[in-house]
Parts: sequence; C-alpha cells; structure tokens
Amino acid sequence: MDFVTGNIGWIEVICGPMFSGKSEELIRRLRRAMIARKRVQVFKPAIDTRYSATEIVSHGDIRMKSEVVSGAGEILKKMDWRTQVIGVDEANFMGPELIDVANQLADSGKQVLISGLDTDYMGRPFSPVPELLALAESITKTLAICMRCGNPAKHTQRLVESNDLIVVGAAGMYEARCRRCFEPGIPRQELLEFARPILKRPGAGT
Ligand code: ADP
Ligand code: ZN
Repeated sequence: MDFVTGNIGWIEVICGPMFSGKSEELIRRLRRAMIARKRVQVFKPAIDTRYSATEIVSHGDIRMKSEVVSGAGEILKKMDWRTQVIGVDEANFMGPELIDVANQLADSGKQVLISGLDTDYMGRPFSPVPELLALAESITKTLAICMRCGNPAKHTQRLVESNDLIVVGAAGMYEARCRRCFEPGIPRQELLEFARPILKRPGAGT
C-alpha cells in the first residue's frame, strides 16, 4: 500500500530482513511521489557506502540519488523546507534520534518514508525501527526467500564471525533465512555453502 496522495504529514515504514526488497519498495514509492511532482529528498547513513556514496542502491541494482548523513539529526540540517516527501534508507543505522526527527517532520506536514531492518543478526528487534513502527501511519513488512529452503524469510543470517551489532556487508556476509533455518548469531561452519568445499575437500578425509 502507498498513499502518497494526501496533503498532511505521515510516516510510512517498510521493514524486513536484508534482500527482502525494502530499498526497491522505497525507491518505487519515491518515484511515484516524483511523478506526482512532489519535492523529494532522500537520505542514507554515512556508514553504508557499500555500493555508492551518492545513491541508494538495491541488491537488484535499482538506484536513486541520495544525500549522506552521519545520523538522523543531520537530516533536519540538510532539509530544504520546501521538500514534501522525505525518504530514509537503512533506518537501523540512523540512531535513536530518527524517532523524534521522523515525528517532527510528519507533524510539520511532511510525508516520511522509511526503510530499515526490523531485526538484528540475533533476531532481536533492531532499534529504532520497532519504535517507528509504533508511531507510523503505514507499515509494510517485506519478506525475502530463505537461502536454505526457499520459504519466505524474515531473518537476516550473519555468515561471518563477529559479536558486533553492526557489521556492514552484503552477499557473502549475510543471507536471508526463514524462522526454521535461522541460527541466531553465527551458524555452524559446516552448514555454510561457501565453507563446504573447504571443510569437505575431496581427499581431505572426513
Ligand atoms: P533490501 O533493501 O531489503 O536489502 P533490496 O531492495 O536491496 O532489498 O533487494 C531486493 C532484491 O534482492 C530482489 O529483488 C532480488 O533481486 C535480490 N535478492 C537477492 N537475494 C534474495 C533473497 N534471498 N530473497 C529475495 N530477493 C533476493
Ligand atoms: Zn528456511
């Protein structure tokens, strides 16, 4: 659902695991707002410059120009007050101040479209997205495809060893997993696709 038609402020959140199409959906909605001749600004956190410093980029390589901010507070500084629609990608890297910033913008009549991970590598709610869900007018949960079994996947499985909450990465470091296949934290090495040839090399014994 999208409802970029009215003239009051609101918050729309798109959440789900990595690879579930959050960025694609955010870009689709922002394009529609542009077609409706709304003034649009798009922001992404400085921490995430994996594919581009000046664009938000989906895993399917769909792109849209964006401005980089070090945290949510900077959105207010970089905002042109004529802007009507504000897009925020990777909300989970924006910090807790995004909650106040999004509310403030919506209260002042802006349409705020936010995309982000709702759970972390342990499967826990990933702040500030859960708080934003509670405050939003519209919520969309996107699911990916489980890389183990093909079922709908709501989890982001970390494939590399680290206990840090934030390890920025994409394919190879994370994959989508369903509830049944998800292993909080780091999975057992023998279950990893890329580890198999190393662990079970022909002639390496059992
Ligand atoms: P997100 O922002 O949620 O990480 P993106 O919008 O960047 O997702 O990417 C979605 C695209 O990723 C899909 O359209 C598809 O081309 C690709 N993709 C790669 N792996 C998967 C997966 N396991 N499940 C679904 N889509 C995947
Ligand atoms: Zn599965």
